[in-house]
Amino acid sequence: MRLPLLAANWKMNKTIGDALAFAGAFIPEMLEVVGFMAGSQEPAWPELLICPPFTAVPAVSAAMAGYPVAIGAQDVFWQDKGSFTGEVSPAMLKDAGCSYVIVGHSERRHVLGETDEWVHKKLRAALDHGLRPILCVGETLQEREAGDTHRVCETMTREGLRGVNKDEVRSVVIAYEPVWAIGTGKEAKPEDARDVIVRLRATVDSMFGDGASSEMRVLYGGSVRPGNLKPFMAHPEIDGALVGGASLDPIEFAKMALEIRKGRRRV
Ligand code: PEP
Repeated sequence: MRLPLLAANWKMNKTIGDALAFAGAFIPEMLEVVGFMAGSQEPAWPELLICPPFTAVPAVSAAMAGYPVAIGAQDVFWQDKGSFTGEVSPAMLKDAGCSYVIVGHSERRHVLGETDEWVHKKLRAALDHGLRPILCVGETLQEREAGDTHRVCETMTREGLRGVNKDEVRSVVIAYEPVWAIGTGKEAKPEDARDVIVRLRATVDSMFGDGASSEMRVLYGGSVRPGNLKPFMAHPEIDGALVGGASLDPIEFAKMALEIRKGRRRV
């Protein structure tokens, strides 16, 4: 059974004060929209995740304590400690309240030059420290126009998951995020996203054995906002969304949680 996941990637946005203002506005919305009552047996649903910038992680983690909202980081380094100026280790992220970490976001791959090898090392380090990695994969417009979408996404998936074992792969989330759809306001067609995700699930099955992907969540990301999420959720292969711009607004984020809830029951 896969619980849908709605994940916010705040990127390089929000000071600690901004992040706390988000939390203050989001909590009452979430209580109403997701129907969660503190202390009740009602499960929070879908799973909600917020990935603030590093500086705001402890504050958001403290503000969300006791609420069904997981906290993640947007990146991690693979070493435990040492002379790596500017980097943050998996243990530091856990210490600050993270249970998830995004690895291989397209902005890191294409703006900051991260390679598949680096993404793999980050994913490996996250798993080794009990953090759940969200492995982002996706093609550029040029690659899409060249008919290379499936090859590119499959390679990123294979390289990212290399050496991972079958038990570990269950805790990995893949986010299919076409680069041309990120921050552009032009989301993929839900059917096209589904086709890529079906192929990615087949890749995971070919690496880890038939049925392995049925325990793994695969998200869509790229210009998701309230009003366009439901058709993605109509496809049972898509388990939710990784959201950038629209996740910065607490009301919009709560609306998207509701859309996921309405769009699909548990698979
Ligand atoms: C992202 O950054 O992962 C993303 C999907 O951004 P946006 O929703 O703004 O397209």
